[in-house]
Amino acid sequence: MHCPHITTSACYLLGALSNGERQEFYRHAADCAECRQGIDDLLPVVLVLWRTRALLGGPDEDDHWPT
Ligand SMILES: [Zn+2]
Repeated sequence: MHCPHITTSACYLLGALSNGERQEFYRHAADCAECRQGIDDLLPVVLVLWRTRALLGGPDEDDHWPT
């Protein structure tokens, strides 16, 4: 019995949702323990991803290499 919205929690944390989708998921997660648990589980992973991206420099930085 897995919530079909559990994958949405990853998109939510990665900022990949539109405003409407984000609000919809936020409302759903308020009533869904599984999605809240999914957010708790994924949050450390997402933070590491963000930190790694900041350290390595994202694709935006590549455009600013001196030529
Ligand atoms: Zn859910």
